Amino acid sequence: MSKESREVQPIFILPEGTQRSTGRTAQRTNIMAAKLVAETIRTTLGPKGMDKMIVDSLGDVTITNDGVTILEEMQISHPAAKMLVEVAKTQEDEVGDGTTTAVVLAGELLAKAEDLIEMEIHPTVIAKGYRMAAEHAQAALHAMSEPITIKDTPMLLKIATTAMTGKGAEASKEKLADLTVKAIKSVSELEGDRVVIDRENIKIEKKVGGTVEDTELVKGIVLDKEKVHPGMPRHIQNAKIALIDSALEIKNTEIDAKIQITDPSQLQSFLDMEEKMLKGMVDRIEKSGANVVFCQKGIDDLAQHFLAKRGIYAARRIKKSDMEKLALATGAQIVTKLDDLASKDLGHAGLVEEVKMGDEDMTFVRECKNPKSVTVLIKGGTEHVVDEVKRAMEDAIGDVAAALKVGKVVAGAGATEMELSRSLRKFSDSLSGREQLAVRAFADAMETIPRTLAENAGLDPIDVLTELKSAHDKDKKWAGINVFTGKVMDAWKEGVIEPLNIKTQAVTSSAEVATMILRIDDVIAGGSGEKGGMPPGGMGGHGGMGGGMGDF
Ligand code: ADP
Ligand code: MG
Repeated sequence: MSKESREVQPIFILPEGTQRSTGRTAQRTNIMAAKLVAETIRTTLGPKGMDKMIVDSLGDVTITNDGVTILEEMQISHPAAKMLVEVAKTQEDEVGDGTTTAVVLAGELLAKAEDLIEMEIHPTVIAKGYRMAAEHAQAALHAMSEPITIKDTPMLLKIATTAMTGKGAEASKEKLADLTVKAIKSVSELEGDRVVIDRENIKIEKKVGGTVEDTELVKGIVLDKEKVHPGMPRHIQNAKIALIDSALEIKNTEIDAKIQITDPSQLQSFLDMEEKMLKGMVDRIEKSGANVVFCQKGIDDLAQHFLAKRGIYAARRIKKSDMEKLALATGAQIVTKLDDLASKDLGHAGLVEEVKMGDEDMTFVRECKNPKSVTVLIKGGTEHVVDEVKRAMEDAIGDVAAALKVGKVVAGAGATEMELSRSLRKFSDSLSGREQLAVRAFADAMETIPRTLAENAGLDPIDVLTELKSAHDKDKKWAGINVFTGKVMDAWKEGVIEPLNIKTQAVTSSAEVATMILRIDDVIAGGSGEKGGMPPGGMGGHGGMGGGMGDF
């Protein structure tokens, strides 16, 4: 054997162009990417948080301080950074608020883990400590929370107000909080002694025009549709509503497909027949007693004409989801076969009317007696205003619904996180070894919420945190930051109230993502893919924090 042939040839197990980083490098880059995401949105946290202006590739502008909206609009492509975006989305889906909190916590947990890794503590040990801490945190959060019921209106109002403080809705938050609580109460249903709220049943419509103060709660549904015929009445008092999910047309294939007309009289008789059938349909509607028809499909011109003649209000091509909401709001049954339509299928509303909004006509189904589906119609001076008010309202609705779902609330303004941090530190004293360090790091990470609230309010975070800590050490469990005065306040008494599950969800999912990222020690990225690739060093090129942001 010659010397050359024994020499080790390089072996390629991955396709050409694959990028790979391993060990510490992989960890460091992933942590850095995740921390960058958290850094980006932390300035938006709290009532004094700033807004972000995001410009997409088409030049469309979004101005918001809503965590999940920012992250979605940024089109982040780094894989570890994307995992943080997922945390925000989970938070949004599960609770409907607290997205910034969850991401900021995850970023801080990773920053603290990085310090531990520098101290030669193995990531799996850190991950284990974090899991223990997260578990303890759940119990601690439950223990400190206070009960709430749907009858406690003042408390529900406080939750809604807290959710909207510092958002685009700030100026009208009293009015909007009132609408939120009314809407929630209307759609809530009792199952045994549990209150069940389906957020889907509160429809949010927005319309540019007027001011935010003109925002109204419609006890019923607002449809982005006009009546199909100018001859139909604009207002129907005491409406009896038919919901039909098949077309009011004659478009059966059997009829359409093969008509051979050999002389003009045949054509006439065919048209006569069609007219007769359409008239028959409208007759059936009239006979049922309906004076309003909402049709999921089309309505033939001739049918429109007949309906108008009989003074029946009709709108067509209503979305399926809106049909379902109409059914819930008015108590109507959705009917497929017109032959089956009977008066018992009809729903009721005090008023159905067409209203001109800007240059569009909309249909309002109002004054439903006991609506299980309602609409909040948001008004405001510009598109950006209504969009941001809509997001704030969604947060408020989410928070009140979440609070009622668990039946428990806590105080905000950093109070809960501070108390949790104290409890975790006590817990860490019962441990030994390296896990103790990890649990303590977890405890420290919780302080990032009050710290960030203070920083965003232009306060000195060290002063505020020292004061806050000493208050909690004196067993003032709801001591939080008054971001307007810079003083420590009793957040509970000041009415800064949040649902317990905002906090439990934020802690769980941030701990989950942090441990998941910590356990990655090898990143293998396919070569040619445009997106999701891992450029060397992690965050350069395509992998950056979304193209548009860099230009500011
Ligand atoms: P998130 O996306 O996490 O909901 P927000 O920007 O809505 O972020 O900020 C929520 C934080 O602001 C919570 O920690 C909450 O306790 C705090 N907060 C809300 N209202 C007040 C207030 N009036 N004073 C102090 N902190 C408040
Ligand atoms: Mg919020």
